[in-house]
Amino acid sequence: MTTAPSIAIVGGGLAGLAAAAALAKSGFAADVFEAAPQLGEIGAGVNVSPQAIRVLRAIGLGENVAAAAYVTPGVLTRDMHSGATLAYRDHANVEARFGAPVCSFHRADLLEALARGVDRGRIHLGHRLIAIKEETVGVALRFADGVTHHAGLVLAADGIHSQVRRALYGDDHPSYTGQMVWRALIPGASVPAAALEPGHVQWLGSGRHFFAYYLRSGDVVNLVTQQDTEQWVEEGWSIPGEVEEMRASFPNPEPRLKVLLDAVTRCSKWGLFLRPPTEHWGRGRIQLIGDAAHAMLPNAGQGAAQGFEDAYILARWLAAMPDDPVAAMENFRRVRIPRVHGVQRRSAAIVRAKHDYELQGENTARAKVDAVDAMAWIWGYDAVNDWDKVPAEPAIAQPH
Ligand code: FAD
Repeated sequence: MTTAPSIAIVGGGLAGLAAAAALAKSGFAADVFEAAPQLGEIGAGVNVSPQAIRVLRAIGLGENVAAAAYVTPGVLTRDMHSGATLAYRDHANVEARFGAPVCSFHRADLLEALARGVDRGRIHLGHRLIAIKEETVGVALRFADGVTHHAGLVLAADGIHSQVRRALYGDDHPSYTGQMVWRALIPGASVPAAALEPGHVQWLGSGRHFFAYYLRSGDVVNLVTQQDTEQWVEEGWSIPGEVEEMRASFPNPEPRLKVLLDAVTRCSKWGLFLRPPTEHWGRGRIQLIGDAAHAMLPNAGQGAAQGFEDAYILARWLAAMPDDPVAAMENFRRVRIPRVHGVQRRSAAIVRAKHDYELQGENTARAKVDAVDAMAWIWGYDAVNDWDKVPAEPAIAQPH
């Protein structure tokens, strides 16, 4: 009889907790080592697309996830200055077509929903990995508090600045993309209904866009923006921002957008960092997942979603090949890398089209770069039935 290898997951973020839950569902117990003293994140929203919601359901988290979700009816796109409607992406048929809706979450709520699928006694908080060593029959993990842990397999879900990636491949620092993000949460009660329709509203302007959407049954409105700027000087990638500076980033806003900007009392700003698509996803007994393997721009709303696909598919491979986890992880990379590279390219292409603002330009076409049909190959992917197949990569996934 084969003994299942002990599994350590480095990072208790969205991908790491989803992996722990997926492994638990497949009968594997994994230990999660998270650097932060508690689970949770900066206050912010995250959207999860239908194919990833189906994956979370298959992991057994459907009820927890549904309880935390705000199901968005659609995405309305406006001109940032005139307020003119450029497009509406109706989500009325999304569930019928893709088997699940697009869901919006407060990140803390989503993390909590994932953690409910995991034995809490195996989530080790305050454990910052500082070194990793491949051994003959396993991997040694050393943490900042002096603890050393030996595991048969390691899943590295420690995010874009992954320590495990650095240990395996050297300092391939992600580079600043020339884009930064403002994020803020405001109370739903501070937003008059006339300023924000239910669902998502995005405003497009020159070299920037601004998204607003409700969370927590409308109690909270999430604001998230993106703009082209070379003026990112801070070394950190998430720092407190100045509200006046955020407002000044959106000059001449149409009245609805101005209401939202005026309601902001606290905000954070983020530099968007990226590394090009790479096949450096791990080796031997170490597997990178989530942003540690494939950080991408948030434009396609797929960073977390791809981490959830990783979690599910990796657990399926490990369950299918219990005698040879190294080969299982090779198979995981074989099926995952082509799809994720396609999503990364799609994500890179979207922002260029959105930010190409010309008053006389073809605004409607610009607004439709993330239309439902354009996302269908991503949202329609059936990881549950096709986890062991290399998905077809469409031609539209090319940057332009
Ligand atoms: P992370 O969420 O970064 O988690 C990594 C975890 O590892 C953290 O908990 C961290 O504390 C821990 N860690 C780090 N180093 C160590 C260490 N040395 N030892 C132990 N633990 C460690 N994606 C979507 O799907 N939909 C969206 O709407 C969306 N919007 C986004 C908006 C913005 C502005 C940004 C920046 C990203 C967005 N994303 C979105 C992307 C998404 O947030 C990421 O892809 C996702 O959080 C990646 O999850 P992860 O678990 O791989 O990494």
